[in-house]
Amino acid sequence: MSLLYELTSFIGGSIVGSFLNVVINRADTGESPFIGRSHCPYCKTPLSWWELIPIISFFILRGKCRHCGKKISVQYPLVELITGLLFAGATWRLGRLPFFNIITNLSLGEKTLLLVSFLISLYWISVLIILSVYDWKRYLILTPVLFPATIITFIWRIIIGYSLKSYNFVCLPYFYRYLGENNFLWGNWSYFSSFFWGIISSFVIIALIVVISKEKAMGWGDALLAPFLGMILGWPAIILALMLSFLIGGLVSFILILMRKKNLKSHLPFAPFLTAGTLTIMLFGDIIIKSYLNLL
Ligand SMILES: [Zn+2]
Repeated sequence: MSLLYELTSFIGGSIVGSFLNVVINRADTGESPFIGRSHCPYCKTPLSWWELIPIISFFILRGKCRHCGKKISVQYPLVELITGLLFAGATWRLGRLPFFNIITNLSLGEKTLLLVSFLISLYWISVLIILSVYDWKRYLILTPVLFPATIITFIWRIIIGYSLKSYNFVCLPYFYRYLGENNFLWGNWSYFSSFFWGIISSFVIIALIVVISKEKAMGWGDALLAPFLGMILGWPAIILALMLSFLIGGLVSFILILMRKKNLKSHLPFAPFLTAGTLTIMLFGDIIIKSYLNLL
């Protein structure tokens, strides 16, 4: 049964992914992503319905526009695939906690809170994909996407913190686990201190790297992104996510240097690595910690 939910989320995610592609590409042209039909970026021919099927249409078209024959960027199927997988991952995590088994026991208030929390997690995934792909292409953080997301997340975190404290929910422990207040490594932190220190620590760490490396390792855009990530994960999970992103970033630049695509002086956009670290901890953090502690 659960697999059906994940499959549905994957299909839904890949459709959202094709919209994220539109947002990323129209960020440069100034066109609204909500108005106007999708068209080929070269010959402007509007796409027919089957050319809009996520992932599959790229392979039916063999990566070329049907009209002008220009190559279609692999960004399209890749973003659709990754969004689909991450949406399926978010659903899988919901079922793993295990919210699907207890859903009938929940009050209407709890169900609403759970639904909105889940939708917000899909919003985080979408925002992080847009920021990462745009940073990869242009070496810039899209602040018109980041700033509203930061404000919405800030308000949402405060609302949910107060709701959890004020009502006697049946599944309170599950909620805390779901929202990331499972401070598995460094003792127990209350919801709001975890929230507060998550924002402060992530910003201070990245800002220090920006200053010390004189904007060579990371830029101020990454420092602006950091508090958003700190809000998503809270303290101390954000520290784990940052360490993981440095590891992934180091590994990828090492591989790129070996492949002679980059040299030691090359800049690497860092938002994709911060995203990879954050989403890994968001979806698998508790599993990683548990298996690590079992090794000791
Ligand atoms: Zn074309």
